[in-house]
Parts: sequence; structure tokens; C-alpha cells
Amino acid sequence: MSDEFLCARCARHYSTCCQKTDIYVTLGDVRRIAVASSATDFTEYRAPKDASYDQTLEDPFWQHHVFRPNGTRRVLKQQSNGDCHFLGAQGCTLALIERPLICRIYPFDYDVDGIKERPAGGCPVQLLRPEQQLLQVLGMDRDEAERYRAQLYAELPEREDLDAATEVVAA
Ligand code: SF4
Ligand code: SF4
Repeated sequence: MSDEFLCARCARHYSTCCQKTDIYVTLGDVRRIAVASSATDFTEYRAPKDASYDQTLEDPFWQHHVFRPNGTRRVLKQQSNGDCHFLGAQGCTLALIERPLICRIYPFDYDVDGIKERPAGGCPVQLLRPEQQLLQVLGMDRDEAERYRAQLYAELPEREDLDAATEVVAA
């Protein structure tokens, strides 16, 4: 099996996390990205495509602060083919430190209490050799992810009415 970076193989064989995922952004994310990219119109409100997506029981803090009463939340816009607004030919066009917090944490799974032991689903673990661990192959640092997770949850409560994102109710 090739030693090509897993994300590159993922991109050749599958839809990646930058192509198939709604990326929630905090207002802190929006400000950081706006400064870094000079972009201004890159968010909108959409409801989850999967109607069963509901964190009410699993993570009520997330549910309460991320979702508005009409079921939408602030996410990055997508290109016409569904790719993330910031996905370019060579991958993300934002530097790591400029990316939305949830992009920096993925594929760690987490909730209000911390980083979970098992990674989130979604990465093509079938491309790994049996002895390889996903988070190790991707070079993920648990302590760094925990810092980003803590920052994410600290930013979630910032008030919606300061945001000027485009309203799009239907996903
Ligand atoms: S993080 Fe996972 S889903 Fe995203 S590109 Fe890499 S291997 Fe694919
Ligand atoms: S912001 Fe970058 S890392 Fe996050 S989904 Fe978009 S292209 Fe991928």
C-alpha cells in the first residue's frame, strides 16, 4: 500500500470531509477568516441535511447555542458542486490556524466535556494498514485538539444578532 498521505488518497477515492460536511462556524471563526482571507460573504444559515441530526440529548449545550429556533445554524457556504467555499485544487486555501475550529479538531470527536476516546466516523479507515491508527497517521495532537475544543465551546454562546450571515433555511 502506498505511503501517500491519507487525506490525499481519501480525496482520490472518496468525498472528503471538505466536500460532504456542513461546517459550523462561530462568530470568532468568521472574524478570523475574514481577516485572514479578506473574504466577507462566506457564511449562511442552513438546516442539517440529515433530519435525524439532533444533539439535544447527547450535547444540549451545543444544541442550545448552535441552533436557532427554526433549526438552522451558521455554516460555511458551499460551491455549486458541494465543496466547501474554501476548498481549492490543493486542499484548504486557509492556513491551519485560520480554519474553523471544528476543522482543526476533526476527526477527533468531542462534546462539552472534552475530547472523546474514539475518533469521529467519516475518515476512510479502510485505506489504513492494519497496524496503523487513524489519529496517528493524520498527525493529530490530542492536547492541541482539546485547546481548540475548549475555545470552540467558549465561543459558542456569542450572540446571533451580531451576525450578518445570509439566511438560507432549506439545506
Ligand atoms: S480528515 Fe479524514 S475525511 Fe478528511 S480528507 Fe483526511 S482522511 Fe479524508
Ligand atoms: S475550511 Fe478548509 S478544512 Fe474546513 S471544510 Fe473548508 S476546505 Fe476543509
